[in-house]
Formats: sequence, structure tokens, C-alpha cells
Amino acid sequence: MNPQILIVDDDDSIRDAICEYLSIYNYSTDAAGNAEEALKKLSAKQFDVVITDIVMNGMDGLQLTERIKAVSDTSVIIITGYIRDYTYEAAIKKGADDFVFKPFRLEELLLRLKRVLREREIAQERNEILEEFKILSITDHLTRLYNARHFHAQLKTEIIRHERYQRPLSLIMIDIDHFKRYNDVYGHMEGDLTLSKMGEALAWSLRAPDTAYRYGGEEFMIILPETELDAALNAAARIKTDVENELAALENHSEPITLSIGVTEYRFGETAADFIKRADKAMYKSKNKGRDCISLL
Ligand code: GH3
Ligand code: MG
Ligand code: MG
Repeated sequence: MNPQILIVDDDDSIRDAICEYLSIYNYSTDAAGNAEEALKKLSAKQFDVVITDIVMNGMDGLQLTERIKAVSDTSVIIITGYIRDYTYEAAIKKGADDFVFKPFRLEELLLRLKRVLREREIAQERNEILEEFKILSITDHLTRLYNARHFHAQLKTEIIRHERYQRPLSLIMIDIDHFKRYNDVYGHMEGDLTLSKMGEALAWSLRAPDTAYRYGGEEFMIILPETELDAALNAAARIKTDVENELAALENHSEPITLSIGVTEYRFGETAADFIKRADKAMYKSKNKGRDCISLL
């Protein structure tokens, strides 16, 4: 899409000249005769850059810049002829991205506009890369679930929320049974494939707002906000069936994969470590009962 440019000036001839000139270079332009009209247009449509005169009746260009920057990342180029009244520093403080001093040539304005648009592109690319890194830093590469680091951060957040609003919160811990033997029989690569399938199956089986994490090698955690123990137990039963069925469909399995699960509800005032320890104990209770089952604590 062409860059969307809004030109704000109370002088018709300047406004029209800029609009016409920029249209030649394939920019989509719109115009406003004062700051109030500009704000109206900005609230109805997304613009990439606003080019505004500084001295206007009513709200001036600096105030307009401040208003724009408070609510959006639209870039602003200020046209000014009154250097003594408005300092460069003042305009920078309001967040202006560039300046053109009157009298100016349209070619100069175009150059400044191109620079501002290029900067916007670079900022957008940088934000996208940062976003990607952020996702990578909380994702387990094999299962595509969240990793243990994110588990600890999220659990802390949920505990704070639980304590503030007195909402229930439960935790499910899942461990694959005899996975060492599975690796020995089918090979480590096949084991990896199974773990990745397990991640997929878990993600499918979950209901919002529950979230799944790879906690360790073949251990998984599910945080269930707004969920009491009974409901968490039901969720665990559903997840166990879903995941085991999904894994049973894998080729080369002579012996089906089973899960040992521990379920527990948060108790007011306890630490995240205590909460996790109890989920772990509940899971080991299942191991001790002979595996392939769900236990509560
Ligand atoms: P249990 O029923 O008592 O849980 O037995 P287990 O063999 O599953 O438990 P143990 O903790 O003794 O062994 C876990 C195994 O999980 C050992 C390890 O080889 C395997 N494992 C852990 N991470 C990975 C991984 O990323 N890929 C593969 N293929 N195997 C893994
Ligand atoms: Mg284990
Ligand atoms: Mg295991």
C-alpha cells in the first residue's frame, strides 16, 4: 500500500501544492486546514506521516504533534518559519521526526519524507525481529510448546492474580512412562519425534485459557487459571485420553505410550516452588501406583 500522508496547513495554496507534488510520487495524500480537523481524520484512518505547519489558528503544530504521539506511532514532519518562537528542542521534545524551514522547496520536503518513511521501515523490521526473538526465548524448539523459563514466569503472574482476586488456580504435571526404555527400543530420533507429536497433541487438547509447557525432558506442565481441583481433574482425564490416542496413532509402536499425571490446586499464601513440588509429588504418586493414571494432592 502507498504511504498515507496527511498534510495540515491553514494556507490552502501550500496545502494544495504539497498534496499535488506528493501525488506525483505515488503517495496517498489527504489534507486538513487545522489541527482539530487533522485529529478527526487521524482517528478515522491510519496515516504513516503527518506533515504539519507549526503556526495555525486554534491548536498549533506542536500541540498537534504531542496529541498524535500520545496515541500512535505516526511520524510527524513540522514545517516552521518561526524559529525564534518555537525552538528546535521544543519540537523534538514533542516527538517531531523532522523539520522543514520556510521558505522550503518541495524537493527538500520530499527528501525528508523519504528519510522518515525509511526510518519507519527500519523500526518496523527491528520490531518484527524483536518479536521473533521474544517468541523464540519462551518456546521449546522440539515441542513448540512454551519452555520452562516461561512456565516459571507465567506461574508467578498467575499466583499474583490468584492472590489479588481470590480466583482458583490449578496445575497439572505430566510425565511420559518408561520413556528411557522407549528411546532404547525405538532410538532417540523416534523419541524426539514422539515428544514433538506430544507437544502438538497437548496444544490441540488444551482449552483457553490453559497453557502447556515442556518442563523438562519428557515432563510437561499445564497451568489452569480459574480452575478448581475437580475441574482440573476432568481436564487432566480429557488431556490424557486425547494425547495417548494421538500418540497411539504413531507408526512403529508395539506398546502404547502412557502418561502419569499429578493434579493439584493452589493454596493461598504458598510459594510457586511449594505449588510445583506438590504437583510433582502427585505425579510421583501416579508412578508409585503403577503409572498410567492420575493422582491428586
Ligand atoms: P518413568 O516411567 O519412571 O518416568 O521412566 P522414564 O524412563 O520415563 O523416566 P526417566 O526419568 O528415568 O527417564 C526419562 C527419559 O526421557 C530419559 C531420556 O532419555 C528421555 N528424554 C528426555 N529428554 C529427551 C529428549 O529431548 N529426546 C528424547 N528422545 N528423549 C528424551
Ligand atoms: Mg521424568
Ligand atoms: Mg518418564
